[in-house]
Amino acid sequence: MAKRALPDLSRFGRLAEYNRKRHFAVTPEPPGRSVERAADRPREFVVQKHRASQLHYDFRLEHRGVMLSWAVPKGPSLDPAVKRLAMETEPHPLDYNQFEGVIPEGEYGGGTVMIWDRGVWAPVADNKLGDDADVDRQLAKGELKFVLLGKKLAGSWTLVRTRGGRQWLLIKHRDEHVSTDDVTVANPRSVVSGRTMAAIARVAGASERQLARAAGADPATTEARAAKAASRPAARARSRSPRRAAGS
Ligand code: MN
Repeated sequence: MAKRALPDLSRFGRLAEYNRKRHFAVTPEPPGRSVERAADRPREFVVQKHRASQLHYDFRLEHRGVMLSWAVPKGPSLDPAVKRLAMETEPHPLDYNQFEGVIPEGEYGGGTVMIWDRGVWAPVADNKLGDDADVDRQLAKGELKFVLLGKKLAGSWTLVRTRGGRQWLLIKHRDEHVSTDDVTVANPRSVVSGRTMAAIARVAGASERQLARAAGADPATTEARAAKAASRPAARARSRSPRRAAGS
């Protein structure tokens, strides 16, 4: 099969690396285009669970027309005592926030992608709402403070660079959204489709190997717990009321 000549992608600026790594005739991921957004629009954030060669959670914050991105191997933690390694990766296009599916084997990042959480975020400077210049300044300094409003993640957070390179730590600040429960286990499904990793792979017609890998990335008990709960509605109702009474 003759390959089409690739267009000159250097003009896509901060998305050049994203575009260079991908074959858009093969992958279902969106091509990278910078976009102009209204200045008063809330900034988007997304967390994508990605079973590539290694499982990780891609944590992305909108800034100046692209999604700044960090790969968090263990996923976010709601426990302020837990600092999660976050490796800075290439900025992604805003269109990527809608992407859930399977990147074919052999392609960059081949594997299943889930929209694990999404919502809006805001930078924090001097305990007030920050602006784009504050974000630039904090990124250069290696300490970005922000608040998230998502379906699973909320409240005050920070990203701290550890060694001047691409290595950061994602840390939850102490507020009413902290928890010692592992949110990646307690709340494993897509916030868009409600699907597990296995279901996303199945719907996308993934290869056997990718299906097995996707299923392995779901908490072991997800399907079993769901099936059990569905067959025992009385038990579920009973276990709910004390939690509600406790206000959690
Ligand atoms: Mn990834």
